[in-house]
Amino acid sequence: MSIILETRNLKKVYANHNVVLDGINVQVKKGEVVVILGPSGCGKSTFLRCLNGLEDIQGGEILLNQKVLNLQKDWHDVRQKVGMVFQNYELFPHMNVLENILLAPLKVQKRKRSEVQEKAVEILARMGLKDKLYAMPKQLSGGQKQRVAIARALCTNPEILLLDEITASLDPEMVKEVLDIVLELAKEGMTMIIVTHEIKFASLIADRILFFEGGRVLADMAPDNFFSQKENERIKRFLNIFDFQ
Ligand code: ADP
Repeated sequence: MSIILETRNLKKVYANHNVVLDGINVQVKKGEVVVILGPSGCGKSTFLRCLNGLEDIQGGEILLNQKVLNLQKDWHDVRQKVGMVFQNYELFPHMNVLENILLAPLKVQKRKRSEVQEKAVEILARMGLKDKLYAMPKQLSGGQKQRVAIARALCTNPEILLLDEITASLDPEMVKEVLDIVLELAKEGMTMIIVTHEIKFASLIADRILFFEGGRVLADMAPDNFFSQKENERIKRFLNIFDFQ
């Protein structure tokens, strides 16, 4: 399978000299679901933000479809191909659901309204939100808002989707409705990098687990291997917190 996204020796250092990513080497193949786990503050979210051009980087390379990105120039194109969903939905509060979804396809991608609107309605229907087309974000539950945010990302036809703690702000009863949609997307072959604390979900969905600590990839392994880890004391300690084993 072809590699869609790759980082080589990726470094992120904040202005306060805080080295947050200390040489990350990762490859993601088409159709793969990679889950990033690790303790709070280890750089998971920063890594995703770097992949979507929301952070500048201080070293290394990012490759999309095996082409090294020119980080000064290419972000406009990259964001068309790399979709991202955030913990706090990031919907525009003054726009209804459909307007939120159509904004980037019409204004940035310059696609035809009729084509995009048809697609938006189809995706919203799949998400169980067909009756919410004209609802404002404040009229929606957290789970509904997050489903709209996923629909918005999908409507730009991304080649890869980055999900950053997308259930972390949700009440427990809404977590499942969002995770079920992500499981569906995985079955359909969507390439994804997922940061989550939902460890059971991670074990169900991941083709590979990356374990981050201190801005480095401490382990890159198949989920079976990760979740039944007997040797690596650090991973065992991490899993013990979740009472997983
Ligand atoms: P995680 O997602 O694994 O919890 P983050 O990527 O959010 O970790 O943060 C990694 C580290 O980067 C943390 O120590 C955090 O305090 C630091 N950090 C995040 N944003 C900034 C910033 N804008 N300036 C300085 N340090 C930051």
